[in-house]
Order: sequence, then structure tokens, then C-alpha cells
Amino acid sequence: MVKPNELIRDDVLRMQAYEVPDSRGMIKLDAMENPHSLPQAIVEQWRERAARCELNRYPDPGSHELKQVLRETMHIAPEYEILLGNGSDELIQLVISAIAKPGAKVIAPAPSFVMYQIISEAARVPFVSFPLDEHFDLDPEAFFRVAHRERPALLFLASPNNPSGNLLHPDRLREAIAEFPGLVVIDEAYFAFADRHHDSWLSEFGNLLIMRTLSKLGLAGLRLGFLWGNPDWINELDKLRLPYNINSLTQAAAEISLRHFDELRVQTDVIRKERDRLIRALTDIRGLHPYPSAANFVLVRVTEGRARSLHSDLRDAGILVKCLDGTHPAVRNCLRITVGTRQENDHLMDVLRRISSRVFARLRAAD
Ligand SMILES: *Cc1c(COP(=O)(O)O)cnc(C)c1O
Repeated sequence: MVKPNELIRDDVLRMQAYEVPDSRGMIKLDAMENPHSLPQAIVEQWRERAARCELNRYPDPGSHELKQVLRETMHIAPEYEILLGNGSDELIQLVISAIAKPGAKVIAPAPSFVMYQIISEAARVPFVSFPLDEHFDLDPEAFFRVAHRERPALLFLASPNNPSGNLLHPDRLREAIAEFPGLVVIDEAYFAFADRHHDSWLSEFGNLLIMRTLSKLGLAGLRLGFLWGNPDWINELDKLRLPYNINSLTQAAAEISLRHFDELRVQTDVIRKERDRLIRALTDIRGLHPYPSAANFVLVRVTEGRARSLHSDLRDAGILVKCLDGTHPAVRNCLRITVGTRQENDHLMDVLRRISSRVFARLRAAD
């Protein structure tokens, strides 16, 4: 009988599956989820609507109602077309497959969202990266040096960037988009936590698309991403979309939730305030250096060599954060902490203070 390793691509055999740590029973501050549950008004309408969903029928393949609500809440002008994905991950995959001519490459900064590289490589499209500067901002010179050499067809730029949390400088972004001879996707997964957005740039740049997701807004379980821009691009990409990629329950729940966008906004405003409070408090803890953030998480640099042990000390205390040490040289000694509820953040800070004073007491004793 045929064995998997006779048929499966060699590069797939060598791959590691994307790992999601077990978080049962933990305070989950590792995945940029909204820690608050859905507002009651949405839950009630959703119950009523879910009961009426005709699950024996295929979903609306064009997600018409959902797109209409998206247009209204996201202020998407009629001249642009929208493409929906099963999370923005699926949209990243769609755009990459669409440009996957022989020799085509994908480029993104490093460090940035890991799925750009993972999905490119899964699609067998070579991925190249260029370094960000020491503030994790776009360095046009570094970008064009790699871009001129590699001639990539597609550029992903996340702003705010993950895992650093900062917005990219608008002048530098503009320069990159204006002079890049390929397609640019600005990934605004964290748009709800930032004061600057790039959708108004669509009228300026014919090679630009904007991508957002409901995941970081409190609806990670729905899996809904959306990409919009000039119909000349979107209509081509839409040909590769699987016919019913957005299921009926997601369409209905997303539509209802977006009709209550103001209530989701109340939650994101709370998260933004908590983020700023968390950054101030972390600054005061010895050995921790938080970076500024325009997202719902904070990148924290810790004392040299302490990131992994701090990550596991937190895990022992029931708090799951993301350890970035070892993922990229620019985030050595770094943890990424998602903003939780007020109580979760208070608890995190208590635990961090306790660990920090223990570590520094030990260091003093060793002196
Ligand atoms: C979390 C994240 C996404 C993932 O979005 P999904 O819609 O959940 O697939 C996309 N881009 C960036 C930069 C992210 O951090």
C-alpha cells in the first residue's frame, strides 16, 4: 500500500504543523483575543437568528447582506469591491495563490505576522523578508535593497505590526507603496486599536488593497476577514475563492455583530485604556521594557536571557503569554502580552512584580 511519504511533497514532510499551546484553565494573553464576551444585545439577536438559519441550504455565495453591512460600518466606498475570507489567513492564501506565477515571490518585513511566510511556503511561492529598523518601523532603504534584488510581486505590510504593536510611519509607507512595482496589501488586523488607518489611500495607489478581520474585535471564533480595493484586483482574486467559504452561521453572526458595531467599540475602547495602563505599569517593573503599542497587545523586552524562564514562570502561575525569544533576532528577550480584562491585567501585574522582586533579590544575594 502506498505510504504518505511516497506521495506527499518533500517540503510538506519536512514542515512542522502550526502549534497552538494548550490553554485550558489558563488566563489567555497569548493570541490577541478580545477578553470580553459578546455584548448581550448581540447574543440575544444571534440566538433568534441562529434558530432561523436554514442549515439544509448552502450559504449565500456572495454574502450580500454581510457585505452591505461591512460597507456601512467600515465606510467602504461604492467604487471598491470586497472579498471575504475564512479569516484573513484565507485571504492571504488567496492573494498569494493568485500571483503564484513561476518565479513570483512574496515579501514582508521581519519580524511581522508569521502567516505571510507560512502560507507562501505552503503554496510554494518563495518568501523573502527585509529588516525593520530598531523601532520596528519601515526602513525604505532596507526594503528597496531587498526588493530590487528579489523583484517580489506581492508585499504584505501589517500596520499596526504584529508582533511589535507599532504603526508604520505614514511617509515611509507611502514611499514604499508608491515605488513598489507590485501589489501591496496593508493588513489592518488591529485597526480597532489604532488612530491611523490607510483605507483612504486606495484612491491614491492603484496597487493597494486593505485587509481587516473581525478576529481581534471580539469575534475570533467566527473566522471572518475582508479585503477591499479596486474591483480590477478583487474580481480576479474572487475567481480563486471556494464557492461557499463563508458559512451561513458566520454570515449571520457577523452581520448582527456589525449592526452593533458601537457596542463592540465600547469594548475596544476599554482594551485601549487597559493597554495604556498596562504599559505604564510594566514600565515601573524592574527588568521589563514595554514598547509603545497601537494594538491590543504589548511587546515587552526583558532582562537578557530571562524571556523563556519568565514565560514559564507565568505559565506556572496560570498565565499564558507568547514568548518570542528565538523567533527572530530583533525580538530576542521579548514576550508579547495580549491585553486582558482589568482583573486579568491586575493579576498579571501582581505576578510580574512578585517574580521580578524574587529575581532581583536573588541577583542581589549573588552579588
Ligand atoms: C491575527 C492577525 C491576523 C489573523 O487574522 P484572522 O482573520 O484571524 O485569520 C492577520 N494579520 C495580522 C497582522 C494578525 O496579527
